[in-house]
Amino acid sequence: MSNDTVLPPGLPAPRPMRDALDAPYWEGTRDHVLRVQRCQACQGWQWGPEWICHRCHSFDVGWEEVAPEGVVYSWERPWHPVHRALVEACPYTILLVELPHAGGIRMIGNLVGDPLQPFAIGDRVTAVFEDHDEADTPFTLVQWVREA
Ligand SMILES: [Zn+2]
Repeated sequence: MSNDTVLPPGLPAPRPMRDALDAPYWEGTRDHVLRVQRCQACQGWQWGPEWICHRCHSFDVGWEEVAPEGVVYSWERPWHPVHRALVEACPYTILLVELPHAGGIRMIGNLVGDPLQPFAIGDRVTAVFEDHDEADTPFTLVQWVREA
């Protein structure tokens, strides 16, 4: 694992759902593209992935690429490790990022850089695609960096 990952090695690797519902998301991250669900019937955005639209209950839910840009909606900073791999990694900062280009849906990621850097709710952030090519099944995580 490279040294430029937000969190250290030893954490469980994410796995696409067995039913492949979220496969387009994970395939997109490998290409450094952010994809989220959008209902083809009512054009509503949603996250996380579901088989039906939250709004109109259509089964015609597709995937669209969105700008990898968001704003900080909320955050937390763990100081106590919840996994043995995180013993030396605390504190780190977890963000709940709102995507204004996708109807304001929100997703979770980690803040890249100094975990104690000052930031505020509403700050603009950009996605960073963190490749884990060394994994048995390579995957890419979406992390977030503050815009200058
Ligand atoms: Zn819909």
